[in-house]
Amino acid sequence: MSSEPTQTSVYVHFPWCARKCPYCDFATEPIRATALPHERYAEAVLRELEARATDLQGRELTSIFFGGGTPSLWGPAALKRTLRGITGAFERVHDELEVTVECNPSSLTQENAALLREAGVGRLSIGVQSLRDPHLQFLGRLHDSNRAVAALEEAVAQMPRVSADLMFGMPGQTLEELGEDIARIAETGVRHVSAYALTIEEKTMFGSLHRAGKLRVAPEEQYADLFEHAERCFADLGWAHYEVSNYAAEAEESRHNLHYWRGGAYVGLGAAAVGCLDDGPGHATRWRNEPNPQRYLEQSTLEAEIEELGPEEIVREALMLGLRTMEGMNLAATKTRAGRDPKAGREQDLERAIEKGNLEQVGNWLRVPQDRWLKLDGIVRDLF
Ligand code: SF4
Repeated sequence: MSSEPTQTSVYVHFPWCARKCPYCDFATEPIRATALPHERYAEAVLRELEARATDLQGRELTSIFFGGGTPSLWGPAALKRTLRGITGAFERVHDELEVTVECNPSSLTQENAALLREAGVGRLSIGVQSLRDPHLQFLGRLHDSNRAVAALEEAVAQMPRVSADLMFGMPGQTLEELGEDIARIAETGVRHVSAYALTIEEKTMFGSLHRAGKLRVAPEEQYADLFEHAERCFADLGWAHYEVSNYAAEAEESRHNLHYWRGGAYVGLGAAAVGCLDDGPGHATRWRNEPNPQRYLEQSTLEAEIEELGPEEIVREALMLGLRTMEGMNLAATKTRAGRDPKAGREQDLERAIEKGNLEQVGNWLRVPQDRWLKLDGIVRDLF
């Protein structure tokens, strides 16, 4: 390892929710609030952190993201203990360490937000999804629109940085509704939004209903119209569309996610968490932890699925993640990480994509122009 510390982020997965949403295929289980193993989970995560101590040498911690699941269900004292353990495990911690916690409006109180702030959290990401009661009911959410707005306002009052998750593509959703939701969210003082299209995942309740012909979904064109409308609304606010699903006011980008899209090293902790660390040019190791929360709590050794990534896998990942962003994929950085020229072996595909206007190279950066983002998946697939 070089003498310069490698910038590294940490993702902590909290694998429980108050209720499983019918569209969600994340690794999470429903649990009663009284059954939550707050301290035991903190201990298990800290045990895993200790077992990974050698991997953390020579690294500088730049961000921590508590995701899930619903980490706002985790007792602030247990979360704080975990946070302290993580910062203490690194030789160096970045001066502007970004610490984000994902929250649900139904489990975020003003008191909770204040305790999280006091614990060292500086950013909340709140899953409001919509500010319309019929859409929230369709999505099976536990909160209504009043609670969603209140949660955003309470969070803004306590935290320096707040992001909201929005979903679009619910049946019957209009452009006006989406536009009004965006304007209302911005009015609360929130300065970052992640806007995702509702997708029907096979292994979810929506997946089963869809297969049985019992779920109405929005037609493809409606998704495209909503995506473009969201883009216009955020542009009117002066926010940057800095990644396909993410919009930010000036300097409000998620540093944790940018690090990930740039192919940065990350450590995953907790049940079902994924981590990936480079171990020299052209080689990286990715792991996925035991997904079952009970088994994760009980295990005393590191048990994870391991995948070794070679130069080609590293290049593919860099294309898949980097081309999702406004800045694009950095060719020189990818060459250093992959140990070979990322263009090698795909010269013709790249040339064709550039001719069609689906791709552009500006200096060291390869990017998909924003007016082609609706076709992004196909564009990237053609480069594989
Ligand atoms: S609250 Fe979030 S993570 Fe939990 S089930 Fe619903 S969508 Fe999934």
